[in-house]
Amino acid sequence: MPRIYLSPPDIRPEDYPAVKAVFDSNWVAPVGPDLAAFEGALCTHTGCQAAVALNSGTAALHMALQLLNIGPGDTVICPTLTFAASANPICYCGAEPVFVDSESDTWNMDPTLLREALADLSTQGKKPKAVIVVHIYGQCADMDEIMAICTEYEVPIIEDAAEALGADFRGQAAGSFGAFSFFSFNGNKIITTSGGGMLVSNNREAIQRARYLATQARQPVAHYEHTEIGFNYRLSNVLAGLGLSQFNDLGRRIAQRKAHFSEYTNHLRELPGVEMMPISDQGNPNYWLTCLTLDRESIKASRDDVLAALEAEDIEARPLWKPLHLQPVYEDVLTYGGAVAEGLFEAGICLPSGSSLRAEERERVIENIIKVLSN
Ligand SMILES: *Cc1c(COP(=O)(O)O)cnc(C)c1O
Repeated sequence: MPRIYLSPPDIRPEDYPAVKAVFDSNWVAPVGPDLAAFEGALCTHTGCQAAVALNSGTAALHMALQLLNIGPGDTVICPTLTFAASANPICYCGAEPVFVDSESDTWNMDPTLLREALADLSTQGKKPKAVIVVHIYGQCADMDEIMAICTEYEVPIIEDAAEALGADFRGQAAGSFGAFSFFSFNGNKIITTSGGGMLVSNNREAIQRARYLATQARQPVAHYEHTEIGFNYRLSNVLAGLGLSQFNDLGRRIAQRKAHFSEYTNHLRELPGVEMMPISDQGNPNYWLTCLTLDRESIKASRDDVLAALEAEDIEARPLWKPLHLQPVYEDVLTYGGAVAEGLFEAGICLPSGSSLRAEERERVIENIIKVLSN
């Protein structure tokens, strides 16, 4: 039986002609019409005024921080329960991250702790220059609360919607809340360009500046005059062709992933000590990954026992994101709270959730979880 992966790329026959058309047009470099079309599609999707396609979500976050003039001596708030790429660009800018714990309702940044952090840092004269909000596993953070708090403290929001393309909060698209928002098209995300990202905003001038900075900051003259340090961060037009084709399939992808969540829930919810990830009634996730937590009081098997049992059956499952404040590279970073994310990390498992996962494969995962938990 073939290995079952967590969230592999889902390339479909429809993607082939889209990529071939790019080759046929010879717009393989440097830019081209597919880039503009892909950017336009994400503008329409989010309702934002402007977008720039970049070669990763990480690059998009780096650009957002640059556009907000964040540099040495500045502080930026970021949740602790996330992938390291949500925080690393803060360090690229020479600024300092500060981490905030999760709420248990959505596993996203806890608004109460965010307020506490902003109040506390402001009294220390270290008022943050930005708050990075992550929509973890494809479910939106409590944007009502977070927007209100950030408005009160006059701190811009950068929305890390890397995992949340197609999700919404009270009917508003993930990626439409921040002063800047970004998506990722890495291989494990809901749509992929093998690697890629998109920065979106209502600030057209800022996106225009990101486009310039991401193209080596060359002045529009024949000899390439440079007055600033630039970056080589643009997405290839070939990959934009693939991205657009994948984006046109987003609805089906979300439906597939949602079906995985429902089926996992139907079969696993009743097992003693198993709790499915909480789904808030304030929005619609894109169900990027289905996750569950194990209660050690009622189950003898640990997270690692379950992961090992699945691995023995050639099934790829993973722990939840290791909180950033527990990462060796970030061990000295100021963190507000932390116990919720630590508890989730101890107890949580991400299950195979790809849009190409077949029903039989999903059953194999379910059977094996039931088997290991009943032993
Ligand atoms: C994937 C991811 C990123 C980074 O995106 P890349 O395109 O891989 O650089 C950032 N934040 C979160 C939460 C992610 O899951």
